[in-house]
Amino acid sequence: MEIPLTILNDSYTIPQLGFGVYQVPPEQTQRIVEDALEVGYRHIDTAAGYRNEDGVGRAIKASHLGRDQVYVTTKLYNDSHGYQETLDAFERSMDQLDLEFLDLYLIHWPRPIADRFLESWQAFETLRSAGRIHSIGVSNFRVKDLEKLAANSTATPVVNQIELHPYFQQNELSEYHHAHGIRTEAWSPLDQGRVLNEPLLVEIGSRYGKTPAQVTIRWHLDKGNVVIPKSEHKHRMSENLNVFDFTLTAEEIASIKKLETGQRSGFDPSEFEGLWD
Ligand code: NAD
Repeated sequence: MEIPLTILNDSYTIPQLGFGVYQVPPEQTQRIVEDALEVGYRHIDTAAGYRNEDGVGRAIKASHLGRDQVYVTTKLYNDSHGYQETLDAFERSMDQLDLEFLDLYLIHWPRPIADRFLESWQAFETLRSAGRIHSIGVSNFRVKDLEKLAANSTATPVVNQIELHPYFQQNELSEYHHAHGIRTEAWSPLDQGRVLNEPLLVEIGSRYGKTPAQVTIRWHLDKGNVVIPKSEHKHRMSENLNVFDFTLTAEEIASIKKLETGQRSGFDPSEFEGLWD
């Protein structure tokens, strides 16, 4: 089973299907990420805010996979916006991950109330020029945030990682991304499990001998999204990878389009400050 690589606007590639570790308890992260690597994932999505970067780093070491065989994303914590704050936060993340370089660093949330993401972006560019990071991107940015970035920097984010699933399809943002060479990366791609009882997805799955989770992940891949489902169970990790032997028809994709509710499940980027504790 080969996970396809998707090319980014800076010419680096990213495995289109990765493994997310949001809400994975720090003390279990090493074991869970080791399982994920063992079943075949080669792209791990963590964040300083998840407090499990060290477990991700330990699992990569224990796997004996070469550094260039595992793609690692982490994200700038929300209390660290600002130029020097970002440089310092990056070093803390790299200490936790214990890696020589990072594949992808994301600004986790735009925090429009603080209004300092441009300073962080400058620091991202500095770190990239110094070779510490291959690719730089953003998360939870709205069109207006992306426009502000474009007006103030020549560096286009390689991805915008956003909440996206059949109930919240983000068509306007995705069109903006497409027009500007930004990859759409879907977080909570299964709406944290809420889409899995959806009769339409169950029915489509029955045509292919696939589960609703597999149909949903396939839908993301067919749309060209990068997708990072999470599971703490090895059999589900494998299930979520077993999506490369079927594709959805245009009619099936059109029927899934009608599941849009206009309702996000996660935080709203216009308001979310994300300062936990
Ligand atoms: P998800 O949509 O991936 O759902 C995960 C949940 O779905 C699991 O906990 C489990 O309950 C269920 N599940 C998964 N596979 C299943 C299967 N095969 N069968 C039955 N149930 C299954 O939710 P998520 O963890 O919120 O999102 C995935 C990743 O996205 C995160 O781990 C994180 O890396 C990233 N994320 C990023 C942000 C951000 O702000 N950038 C926010 C949330 C999540």
